[in-house]
Amino acid sequence: MTKAEHLTGMTRDELERFVSDAGEPAYRGRQIFSALHRRRLRSFDEMTDLPKEFRARLAERATASTLTVESRYVAEDGTRRYLLKTHDGLPVETVFIPEERRDTICFSSQSGCPLQCDFCLTARLGLLRTLTAGEIVEQIVVALNDAYGVGAKTPRGTNLVAMGAGEPFLAYEPLMKALRVMADEDGLHIVPNRVTVSTAGVVPKIRELAAEPDRPHLAISLAAPDDELRDKLMPINKRWPLRELLAACKEFEESLRPGERFTFEYVMLDGVNDTDDHARRLARLLNRHQLRAKVNLIPHNPADPLPYRPSPPERVEAFKEILESKGVHAFVRRPRGRDIYAACGQLAARRDNAPPALYQLS
Ligand code: SF4
Repeated sequence: MTKAEHLTGMTRDELERFVSDAGEPAYRGRQIFSALHRRRLRSFDEMTDLPKEFRARLAERATASTLTVESRYVAEDGTRRYLLKTHDGLPVETVFIPEERRDTICFSSQSGCPLQCDFCLTARLGLLRTLTAGEIVEQIVVALNDAYGVGAKTPRGTNLVAMGAGEPFLAYEPLMKALRVMADEDGLHIVPNRVTVSTAGVVPKIRELAAEPDRPHLAISLAAPDDELRDKLMPINKRWPLRELLAACKEFEESLRPGERFTFEYVMLDGVNDTDDHARRLARLLNRHQLRAKVNLIPHNPADPLPYRPSPPERVEAFKEILESKGVHAFVRRPRGRDIYAACGQLAARRDNAPPALYQLS
C-alpha cells in the first residue's frame, strides 16, 4: 500500500483485496465500499461501524476523499455549480442540474483541457491534469450529498454526463474505471445506461467504446458541417476530419441497442455556423451517412473573453426546422446555470457568479 491510496476509486473487489493485504477480513472491504458509495461518507472518522484502531490504521495509509469544495454557486434555475480543488491544488468543476423527471450531474474528466475548441472557456486553461477514477467518482458524491443530504436516497435517480471540463476520451481508463465503481449496486448504483460521454471526436476511442460490453451512451460535439469551419472551431478536426469521424460513428452504430440513438451536439454561434446553408449542409452530411442519430442544438453560452455570441432563438428554431424538414431529429437544449457560469463551455474555474472581466486559477 502506498501512502494515501484513494479508496473511492477502487472497485468492491479491489477494496476487499486492499483490506486483505492489510491483514483484515475481506468483509471489511465491502463495509468500506458501502460507506464510501452507498452512505457517501467522505472520511474514515464517520465510518463508526469500523473498529477505531482499524480506522486509525486506514488513515495512515489511505484516504476516503481528496477533493475539497472551494466554492458553491446556486443559479436562479436551481442549477448548482461546484468549484473543487484536487490534493495538488488544481481546479475541478461539477454541475448539478435539477430536472423534472431525473436530475443530471455534469462532471469533469480533466482539470483544464488540452483541446483548443475556439468557443470554449475551459480550453483557455490548457491541460492541467487528467483526473483519476476516484476524483471522477468523488464529484458525483459531492454533488449528491449537497443536493439531497449525506447518504440520502436520490428521489428521482440520477443521470450523468461527461460534459464538464476535459475530453473524456483522453481520460478513457480512469473514466471507465469510475463507471464500473459507480455501477455497483452496493454503492451509487448509477449504471452506464444512465451515463452519456461527450467527445470532441477522438476517433480510436469511439471504436474502443463500441466494443465495451456495458458502455455509456455516446455524444459527439460537431459544431460545423464541413472540415474548413470545423478545423477552425475544433482543431482536433485536423487530426480526425469529419470523414473519419463519421465513419467511426457509422461503425459505432452497430453497437446501438434497440431504441438507442447517439447524439450530435451542435453549439450555435451567431453568424458563424448557424445559417440556413449550414443547416442544409449538416442535414446532408448526416443523411449521407444514414446515421441513427439526433442533433442537440445548444445556443452558445457567452463568456468573456470568447469572441462568440449565441444565435438568437428565432435562428435556432429556423435551423431546427430545416434539419427536421430533411428528416434529421433535432432538439433545442435549454441553457442551464448561465448566470453562475455553469453552462457548457463556461467552466474555467471562475470564482464568481456574476459576469467577471477575468477568470482565475488556483
Ligand atoms: S469543448 Fe470540451 S473538448 Fe473542447 S476545449 Fe472545451 S472542454 Fe475541451
